[in-house]
Amino acid sequence: MLRRSFIKTTALGSLATGIPFISDSSKSHILTLSFDDGFKKSFYRIAEIHEAYGLKACLNVIATGHMPDFKAVDDWILPELMGDFNDWNKLVGRGHEVMPHSWKHLNLTKIPFQQAQENINKCLDYFTDHLDGYRDDQAVYNYAFLASNPDLDKFALQRVAAVRTGAWLVLKDTKVNMKPVAPSAITLGAWTNGPNNNDQYLEDTVDDFLEGPGGWLVINLHGLDNEGWGPISTTCLDRLLKRLITIDKLSVQPAGEVIKMI
Ligand SMILES: [Zn+2]
Repeated sequence: MLRRSFIKTTALGSLATGIPFISDSSKSHILTLSFDDGFKKSFYRIAEIHEAYGLKACLNVIATGHMPDFKAVDDWILPELMGDFNDWNKLVGRGHEVMPHSWKHLNLTKIPFQQAQENINKCLDYFTDHLDGYRDDQAVYNYAFLASNPDLDKFALQRVAAVRTGAWLVLKDTKVNMKPVAPSAITLGAWTNGPNNNDQYLEDTVDDFLEGPGGWLVINLHGLDNEGWGPISTTCLDRLLKRLITIDKLSVQPAGEVIKMI
């Protein structure tokens, strides 16, 4: 069966059954913990914790974060904390997902459109050249600051399978992502919170989601403990994943893996 007709069939099946997004109908709830920026220490630790529970981490990195001229973005994204593509390729080799999170962490809605387009292309070109196994047509482009607009989304989706932007920009009456309008061009809405410790926010948001009817919830996180904007503690992540893998109706997956299942 051609991929496109498979997608259409699956989408229709989802409508008929009320089960969102994926063909595995035993899972009504899909959760993606989408970690940003590329903090070396945190990202290795996040990967280890996921591995302890048989899960793949969803890691999004800045293409230029490791370069000598990379400058601090704010109080949290600091050059000395960032890993490089040797690190990211090691983590990909261990089965984790590494996806693009901008060229140099600009808010693309605040710069001229042509410059924004160039930044997206430079980022995706760098991933194509430097990340093992990377393919645009399986990629999720994760906007810096969860900031985009319909023109940027349309442009990025000419190259990538999905974009991740602010949930408040694209989700209306629900906190979760449901069946996409166009299955080959998915705009994901993600929630986030900061700048302080996010343990309680994360646990409360996941619990609310689990009490609801289901869908695909994407939560945007950053580093662990003292790294990144709105960090979560190592113990919180460990405790949460340990609990979540016991819930039958729930699947914890990186975004790109979910897209493959649509
Ligand atoms: Zn970021």
